[in-house]
Amino acid sequence: MTVTTVAAYAAPTPKAPLERTTVPRRPVGEHDVLIDIKFAGICHSDIHQAREGWGKGIFPMVPGHEIAGIVAEVGPGVTKFAVGDRVGVGCMVDSCRECDNCKAGLEQYCANGNTGTYNALDKQGEPTYGGYSTHIVVDENYTLRIPEGIGLDVAAPLLCAGITTYSPLAHWNAGPGKKVAIVGLGGLGHMGVKIAHAMGADVTVLSQSLRKQEDGLKLGADHYYATSDPKTFDELRGTLDLIVSTVSAPLPLDSYLSLLKTDGAMINVGAPEEPVSLNLFSVIGGRKTLAGSGIGGIRETQEMLDFCAEHGLGAEIEVIPADRINEAYERVLSSDVRYRFVIDTATI
Ligand code: NAP
Ligand code: ZN
Ligand code: ZN
Repeated sequence: MTVTTVAAYAAPTPKAPLERTTVPRRPVGEHDVLIDIKFAGICHSDIHQAREGWGKGIFPMVPGHEIAGIVAEVGPGVTKFAVGDRVGVGCMVDSCRECDNCKAGLEQYCANGNTGTYNALDKQGEPTYGGYSTHIVVDENYTLRIPEGIGLDVAAPLLCAGITTYSPLAHWNAGPGKKVAIVGLGGLGHMGVKIAHAMGADVTVLSQSLRKQEDGLKLGADHYYATSDPKTFDELRGTLDLIVSTVSAPLPLDSYLSLLKTDGAMINVGAPEEPVSLNLFSVIGGRKTLAGSGIGGIRETQEMLDFCAEHGLGAEIEVIPADRINEAYERVLSSDVRYRFVIDTATI
Protein backbone atom coordinates (compact mmCIF):
# COMPACT_ATOMS: atom_id res chain seq x y z
CA MET A 1 0.00 0.00 0.00
CA THR A 2 1.28 3.44 -0.77
CA VAL A 3 1.23 6.73 1.07
CA THR A 4 -2.07 8.49 0.58
CA THR A 5 -2.55 12.20 0.18
CA VAL A 6 -5.49 13.67 2.09
CA ALA A 7 -7.11 17.09 2.30
CA ALA A 8 -6.35 19.17 5.38
CA TYR A 9 -6.27 22.69 6.80
CA ALA A 10 -2.79 23.85 7.76
CA ALA A 11 -0.92 26.88 8.99
CA PRO A 12 1.83 27.14 6.32
CA THR A 13 4.07 29.23 8.60
CA PRO A 14 3.86 30.40 12.23
CA LYS A 15 1.01 32.87 12.85
CA ALA A 16 -0.21 32.61 9.22
CA PRO A 17 -3.94 31.98 8.65
CA LEU A 18 -4.82 28.34 8.10
CA GLU A 19 -5.55 27.34 4.53
CA ARG A 20 -6.65 24.28 2.60
CA THR A 21 -3.84 21.96 1.53
CA THR A 22 -3.00 18.25 1.29
CA VAL A 23 -0.78 16.14 3.55
CA PRO A 24 0.55 12.60 3.31
CA ARG A 25 -0.78 9.77 5.49
CA ARG A 26 1.32 6.64 5.94
CA PRO A 27 0.14 3.29 4.61
CA VAL A 28 -2.04 1.33 7.05
CA GLY A 29 0.49 -0.79 8.97
CA GLU A 30 0.09 -4.09 10.84
CA HIS A 31 -1.50 -2.46 13.94
CA ASP A 32 -2.93 0.68 12.34
CA VAL A 33 -6.45 1.85 11.73
CA LEU A 34 -7.41 4.29 8.98
CA ILE A 35 -9.98 6.70 10.37
CA ASP A 36 -12.46 8.61 8.25
CA ILE A 37 -12.54 11.78 10.38
CA LYS A 38 -16.02 13.25 10.84
CA PHE A 39 -15.40 16.00 13.40
CA ALA A 40 -12.38 17.78 14.89
CA GLY A 41 -12.56 20.13 17.88
CA ILE A 42 -10.61 23.37 18.09
CA CYS A 43 -8.59 23.45 21.32
CA HIS A 44 -6.84 26.58 22.55
CA SER A 45 -3.64 24.49 22.41
CA ASP A 46 -4.02 24.43 18.61
CA ILE A 47 -3.73 28.22 18.62
CA HIS A 48 -0.82 28.31 21.07
CA GLN A 49 1.07 25.93 18.76
CA ALA A 50 0.09 27.33 15.36
CA ARG A 51 1.31 30.72 16.59
CA GLU A 52 4.43 29.31 18.27
CA GLY A 53 3.32 30.62 21.65
CA TRP A 54 4.91 27.61 23.35
CA GLY A 55 8.06 27.57 21.24
CA LYS A 56 9.17 26.51 17.82
CA GLY A 57 6.71 24.45 15.79
CA ILE A 58 6.88 22.16 12.75
CA PHE A 59 5.33 23.70 9.61
CA PRO A 60 3.16 23.31 7.69
CA MET A 61 1.11 22.48 10.80
CA VAL A 62 -2.23 20.70 10.69
CA PRO A 63 -3.63 21.16 14.19
CA GLY A 64 -6.39 19.07 15.74
CA HIS A 65 -6.24 16.60 18.59
CA GLU A 66 -9.94 16.20 19.31
CA ILE A 67 -10.76 13.72 16.58
CA ALA A 68 -13.91 11.64 16.12
CA GLY A 69 -14.61 9.41 13.16
CA ILE A 70 -15.28 5.97 11.75
CA VAL A 71 -12.78 3.20 11.10
CA ALA A 72 -12.41 2.81 7.32
CA GLU A 73 -9.67 0.16 7.17
CA VAL A 74 -7.68 -1.95 9.63
CA GLY A 75 -4.20 -3.47 9.44
CA PRO A 76 -3.86 -7.28 9.51
CA GLY A 77 -2.75 -7.35 13.17
CA VAL A 78 -5.53 -5.13 14.53
CA THR A 79 -7.61 -6.84 17.21
CA LYS A 80 -9.42 -4.01 18.99
CA PHE A 81 -11.29 -2.35 16.11
CA ALA A 82 -13.19 -3.27 12.98
CA VAL A 83 -14.29 -1.30 9.93
CA GLY A 84 -17.31 0.82 10.86
CA ASP A 85 -16.38 1.34 14.53
CA ARG A 86 -16.83 4.78 16.09
CA VAL A 87 -13.46 5.96 17.29
CA GLY A 88 -11.54 8.93 18.61
CA VAL A 89 -7.97 10.17 18.80
CA GLY A 90 -6.65 12.65 21.33
CA CYS A 91 -3.37 14.47 21.85
CA MET A 92 -0.97 11.58 21.31
CA VAL A 93 -0.57 8.88 18.70
CA ASP A 94 2.37 6.94 20.16
CA SER A 95 4.84 6.73 23.04
CA CYS A 96 7.84 4.54 23.91
CA ARG A 97 5.63 1.84 25.52
CA GLU A 98 8.56 0.71 27.68
CA CYS A 99 9.16 3.33 30.38
CA ASP A 100 7.56 3.11 33.81
CA ASN A 101 4.98 5.76 32.91
CA CYS A 102 3.95 4.01 29.70
CA LYS A 103 3.67 0.71 31.55
CA ALA A 104 1.53 2.40 34.21
CA GLY A 105 -0.89 3.80 31.62
CA LEU A 106 0.53 7.30 31.96
CA GLU A 107 1.66 7.55 28.34
CA GLN A 108 1.14 11.32 28.46
CA TYR A 109 4.14 11.48 30.79
CA CYS A 110 6.27 9.03 28.72
CA ALA A 111 9.86 9.41 29.93
CA ASN A 112 11.02 9.35 26.32
CA GLY A 113 8.38 11.78 25.14
CA ASN A 114 5.06 10.76 23.63
CA THR A 115 4.38 11.44 19.95
CA GLY A 116 1.96 14.34 19.60
CA THR A 117 -0.93 13.95 17.18
CA TYR A 118 0.53 16.95 15.34
CA ASN A 119 3.53 19.26 15.60
CA ALA A 120 5.73 16.23 16.36
CA LEU A 121 7.93 13.70 14.60
CA ASP A 122 6.91 10.04 14.65
CA LYS A 123 9.30 7.13 15.25
CA GLN A 124 10.26 7.19 11.56
CA GLY A 125 11.12 10.88 11.85
CA GLU A 126 8.13 11.96 9.76
CA PRO A 127 6.02 14.94 10.87
CA THR A 128 2.61 14.14 12.33
CA TYR A 129 -0.48 15.97 11.08
CA GLY A 130 -3.61 16.39 13.18
CA GLY A 131 -7.35 16.23 12.86
CA TYR A 132 -8.21 19.23 10.68
CA SER A 133 -8.18 16.69 7.89
CA THR A 134 -10.35 14.07 6.23
CA HIS A 135 -8.41 10.96 7.29
CA ILE A 136 -5.72 9.87 9.74
CA VAL A 137 -3.78 6.63 10.27
CA VAL A 138 -3.21 5.75 13.94
CA ASP A 139 -1.93 2.74 15.87
CA GLU A 140 -4.87 0.91 17.41
CA ASN A 141 -3.29 1.18 20.86
CA TYR A 142 -3.64 5.00 20.72
CA THR A 143 -7.18 4.90 19.33
CA LEU A 144 -10.21 5.22 21.61
CA ARG A 145 -13.67 3.75 21.31
CA ILE A 146 -16.52 6.26 21.31
CA PRO A 147 -19.51 4.70 23.08
CA GLU A 148 -22.78 4.45 21.13
CA GLY A 149 -24.62 6.89 23.38
CA ILE A 150 -22.53 9.95 22.42
CA GLY A 151 -22.80 11.75 19.07
CA LEU A 152 -19.48 11.98 17.24
CA ASP A 153 -19.73 15.78 17.09
CA VAL A 154 -20.16 16.28 20.83
CA ALA A 155 -17.69 13.47 21.55
CA ALA A 156 -14.78 15.01 19.64
CA PRO A 157 -13.96 17.62 22.35
CA LEU A 158 -13.91 14.92 25.01
CA LEU A 159 -10.65 13.64 23.50
CA CYS A 160 -8.81 16.64 24.92
CA ALA A 161 -11.10 18.98 26.89
CA GLY A 162 -12.87 16.01 28.49
CA ILE A 163 -9.85 13.99 29.54
CA THR A 164 -7.78 17.01 30.59
CA THR A 165 -10.40 17.96 33.18
CA TYR A 166 -11.48 14.40 34.08
CA SER A 167 -7.95 13.30 34.94
CA PRO A 168 -7.18 15.84 37.73
CA LEU A 169 -10.76 15.70 39.04
CA ALA A 170 -10.45 11.92 39.38
CA HIS A 171 -6.88 12.02 40.72
CA TRP A 172 -7.70 14.61 43.39
CA ASN A 173 -10.94 12.81 44.33
CA ALA A 174 -13.62 15.26 43.28
CA GLY A 175 -16.87 13.81 44.58
CA PRO A 176 -19.62 14.13 47.16
CA GLY A 177 -18.69 16.45 50.01
CA LYS A 178 -15.92 18.17 47.99
CA LYS A 179 -16.05 21.81 47.03
CA VAL A 180 -14.51 22.12 43.59
CA ALA A 181 -13.96 25.32 41.59
CA ILE A 182 -13.35 25.45 37.87
CA VAL A 183 -11.58 28.60 36.71
CA GLY A 184 -12.41 29.73 33.15
CA LEU A 185 -15.61 28.66 31.40
CA GLY A 186 -14.25 27.80 27.96
CA GLY A 187 -13.72 24.49 26.18
CA LEU A 188 -11.98 22.74 29.05
CA GLY A 189 -13.84 24.63 31.77
CA HIS A 190 -17.34 23.73 30.62
CA MET A 191 -16.41 20.04 30.50
CA GLY A 192 -14.80 20.39 33.93
CA VAL A 193 -18.10 21.70 35.30
CA LYS A 194 -20.12 18.89 33.73
CA ILE A 195 -17.73 16.17 34.88
CA ALA A 196 -17.22 17.50 38.44
CA HIS A 197 -21.00 17.78 38.80
CA ALA A 198 -21.46 14.22 37.51
CA MET A 199 -18.86 13.04 40.04
CA GLY A 200 -21.06 14.50 42.76
CA ALA A 201 -18.95 17.49 43.81
CA ASP A 202 -20.28 20.91 44.80
CA VAL A 203 -19.14 23.00 41.82
CA THR A 204 -18.24 26.68 41.65
CA VAL A 205 -17.37 28.50 38.43
CA LEU A 206 -14.84 31.30 38.64
CA SER A 207 -15.19 33.27 35.43
CA GLN A 208 -13.93 36.73 34.52
CA SER A 209 -17.49 38.08 34.47
CA LEU A 210 -21.08 36.98 35.11
CA ARG A 211 -21.79 37.00 31.37
CA LYS A 212 -22.07 33.19 31.18
CA GLN A 213 -23.65 32.64 34.60
CA GLU A 214 -26.92 31.22 33.30
CA ASP A 215 -25.05 28.73 31.12
CA GLY A 216 -22.72 27.76 33.94
CA LEU A 217 -25.60 26.90 36.24
CA LYS A 218 -27.29 24.89 33.48
CA LEU A 219 -24.07 22.96 32.88
CA GLY A 220 -24.17 21.81 36.50
CA ALA A 221 -22.48 24.51 38.59
CA ASP A 222 -23.92 25.18 42.03
CA HIS A 223 -22.31 28.63 42.36
CA TYR A 224 -20.93 31.21 39.94
CA TYR A 225 -18.62 34.12 40.72
CA ALA A 226 -16.88 36.84 38.72
CA THR A 227 -13.16 37.08 39.40
CA SER A 228 -13.21 40.71 38.25
CA ASP A 229 -15.14 41.47 41.46
CA PRO A 230 -12.67 41.67 44.38
CA LYS A 231 -15.47 40.68 46.80
CA THR A 232 -15.37 37.18 45.26
CA PHE A 233 -11.95 36.55 46.79
CA ASP A 234 -13.09 37.76 50.24
CA GLU A 235 -16.25 35.71 50.18
CA LEU A 236 -14.64 32.43 49.08
CA ARG A 237 -11.44 32.68 51.16
CA GLY A 238 -10.53 29.28 52.69
CA THR A 239 -13.64 27.48 51.40
CA LEU A 240 -12.51 25.24 48.52
CA ASP A 241 -11.02 21.73 48.49
CA LEU A 242 -9.94 21.74 44.88
CA ILE A 243 -9.42 24.35 42.16
CA VAL A 244 -8.86 23.36 38.55
CA SER A 245 -7.65 26.27 36.45
CA THR A 246 -8.26 26.02 32.72
CA VAL A 247 -7.15 29.59 32.04
CA SER A 248 -4.93 30.10 29.00
CA ALA A 249 -3.29 33.27 30.42
CA PRO A 250 -1.16 33.80 33.55
CA LEU A 251 -3.26 34.11 36.73
CA PRO A 252 -2.46 35.79 40.06
CA LEU A 253 -1.90 32.44 41.78
CA ASP A 254 -1.60 33.83 45.30
CA SER A 255 -5.18 35.12 45.19
CA TYR A 256 -6.53 31.79 43.97
CA LEU A 257 -4.53 29.78 46.50
CA SER A 258 -6.08 31.89 49.28
CA LEU A 259 -9.45 30.34 48.37
CA LEU A 260 -8.31 26.84 49.37
CA LYS A 261 -8.96 25.16 52.70
CA THR A 262 -6.03 23.65 54.62
CA ASP A 263 -4.63 20.77 52.51
CA GLY A 264 -6.53 22.02 49.47
CA ALA A 265 -5.06 21.71 45.99
CA MET A 266 -4.97 23.95 42.94
CA ILE A 267 -4.35 22.14 39.68
CA ASN A 268 -3.34 24.02 36.56
CA VAL A 269 -4.30 22.54 33.25
CA GLY A 270 -4.35 25.90 31.47
CA ALA A 271 -0.99 26.35 29.76
CA PRO A 272 -0.18 30.06 29.39
CA GLU A 273 2.61 31.18 27.11
CA GLU A 274 4.33 33.22 29.83
CA PRO A 275 5.68 32.11 33.23
CA VAL A 276 3.69 32.91 36.38
CA SER A 277 4.96 34.18 39.72
CA LEU A 278 4.17 32.81 43.15
CA ASN A 279 4.74 33.82 46.76
CA LEU A 280 5.60 30.49 48.41
CA PHE A 281 3.87 31.59 51.62
CA SER A 282 0.66 31.08 49.65
CA VAL A 283 1.23 27.31 49.87
CA ILE A 284 3.17 27.15 53.14
CA GLY A 285 0.26 28.54 55.11
CA GLY A 286 -2.38 25.80 55.00
CA ARG A 287 -0.11 23.05 53.59
CA LYS A 288 -1.56 23.64 50.14
CA THR A 289 -0.70 21.88 46.91
CA LEU A 290 -0.05 23.67 43.64
CA ALA A 291 0.11 21.17 40.79
CA GLY A 292 -0.24 20.73 37.06
CA SER A 293 -1.82 17.98 35.03
CA GLY A 294 -1.48 16.97 31.38
CA ILE A 295 -4.29 15.32 29.38
CA GLY A 296 -4.63 11.68 30.52
CA GLY A 297 -3.35 8.21 29.61
CA ILE A 298 -5.03 5.99 27.03
CA ARG A 299 -6.73 3.75 29.60
CA GLU A 300 -8.00 6.75 31.53
CA THR A 301 -9.23 8.43 28.34
CA GLN A 302 -11.36 5.36 27.60
CA GLU A 303 -12.60 5.42 31.20
CA MET A 304 -13.55 9.10 30.74
CA LEU A 305 -15.45 8.36 27.50
CA ASP A 306 -17.36 5.54 29.20
CA PHE A 307 -18.07 7.81 32.20
CA CYS A 308 -19.42 10.51 29.87
CA ALA A 309 -21.64 8.00 28.05
CA GLU A 310 -22.94 6.66 31.34
CA HIS A 311 -23.79 10.16 32.57
CA GLY A 312 -25.05 11.45 29.20
CA LEU A 313 -22.27 14.03 28.88
CA GLY A 314 -20.98 15.58 25.69
CA ALA A 315 -19.54 18.97 24.83
CA GLU A 316 -21.61 22.07 24.06
CA ILE A 317 -20.51 22.80 20.53
CA GLU A 318 -20.75 25.17 17.60
CA VAL A 319 -20.14 23.18 14.42
CA ILE A 320 -18.34 25.19 11.74
CA PRO A 321 -17.19 24.60 8.17
CA ALA A 322 -13.43 24.52 7.69
CA ASP A 323 -13.31 27.91 5.99
CA ARG A 324 -14.30 29.50 9.31
CA ILE A 325 -11.36 28.10 11.30
CA ASN A 326 -9.44 31.40 11.30
CA GLU A 327 -12.50 33.31 12.49
CA ALA A 328 -13.03 30.68 15.22
CA TYR A 329 -9.42 31.16 16.38
CA GLU A 330 -10.05 34.87 16.90
CA ARG A 331 -13.22 34.12 18.81
CA VAL A 332 -11.43 31.63 21.09
CA LEU A 333 -8.75 34.24 21.76
CA SER A 334 -11.42 36.71 22.87
CA SER A 335 -13.20 34.09 25.09
CA ASP A 336 -16.16 34.24 22.70
CA VAL A 337 -16.94 30.54 22.44
CA ARG A 338 -19.88 28.53 23.76
CA TYR A 339 -18.19 26.24 24.38
CA ARG A 340 -16.19 24.42 21.73
CA PHE A 341 -15.84 24.96 18.00
CA VAL A 342 -15.99 21.68 16.12
CA ILE A 343 -15.03 21.46 12.46
CA ASP A 344 -17.28 19.43 10.15
CA THR A 345 -14.47 17.74 8.23
CA ALA A 346 -16.76 17.05 5.25
CA THR A 347 -16.20 20.74 4.41
CA ILE A 348 -12.39 20.47 4.19
P1 NAP B 1 -10.60 28.41 26.00
O1 NAP B 1 -11.80 27.75 25.42
O2 NAP B 1 -10.07 29.65 25.38
O3 NAP B 1 -10.93 28.67 27.55
C1 NAP B 1 -10.08 29.39 28.40
C2 NAP B 1 -10.94 30.22 29.35
O4 NAP B 1 -10.05 30.90 30.24
C3 NAP B 1 -11.72 31.32 28.66
O5 NAP B 1 -12.95 30.89 28.18
C4 NAP B 1 -11.89 32.34 29.77
O6 NAP B 1 -12.96 31.94 30.59
C5 NAP B 1 -10.61 32.16 30.59
N1 NAP B 1 -9.63 33.20 30.27
C6 NAP B 1 -9.07 33.49 29.08
N2 NAP B 1 -8.20 34.52 29.18
C7 NAP B 1 -8.20 34.88 30.49
C8 NAP B 1 -7.51 35.86 31.24
N3 NAP B 1 -6.64 36.70 30.65
N4 NAP B 1 -7.74 35.93 32.57
C9 NAP B 1 -8.63 35.11 33.17
N5 NAP B 1 -9.31 34.16 32.51
C10 NAP B 1 -9.11 34.05 31.19
O7 NAP B 1 -9.37 27.42 26.01
P2 NAP B 1 -9.33 25.83 26.25
O8 NAP B 1 -9.30 25.16 24.94
O9 NAP B 1 -10.33 25.48 27.26
O10 NAP B 1 -7.85 25.70 26.84
C11 NAP B 1 -7.52 26.34 28.05
C12 NAP B 1 -6.04 26.22 28.31
O11 NAP B 1 -5.74 24.87 28.63
C13 NAP B 1 -5.13 26.59 27.14
O12 NAP B 1 -3.99 27.24 27.64
C14 NAP B 1 -4.77 25.23 26.58
O13 NAP B 1 -3.56 25.25 25.87
C15 NAP B 1 -4.64 24.44 27.84
N6 NAP B 1 -4.73 22.99 27.68
C16 NAP B 1 -3.95 22.23 28.49
C17 NAP B 1 -4.04 20.88 28.44
C18 NAP B 1 -3.24 20.03 29.38
O14 NAP B 1 -3.03 18.86 29.09
N7 NAP B 1 -2.82 20.55 30.50
C19 NAP B 1 -4.90 20.26 27.52
C20 NAP B 1 -5.69 21.07 26.73
C21 NAP B 1 -5.60 22.44 26.80
P3 NAP B 1 -14.01 33.00 31.19
O15 NAP B 1 -14.54 33.74 30.00
O16 NAP B 1 -15.01 32.15 31.87
O17 NAP B 1 -13.26 33.87 32.15
ZN1 ZN C 1 -6.26 20.26 23.57
ZN1 ZN D 1 7.28 5.80 27.63
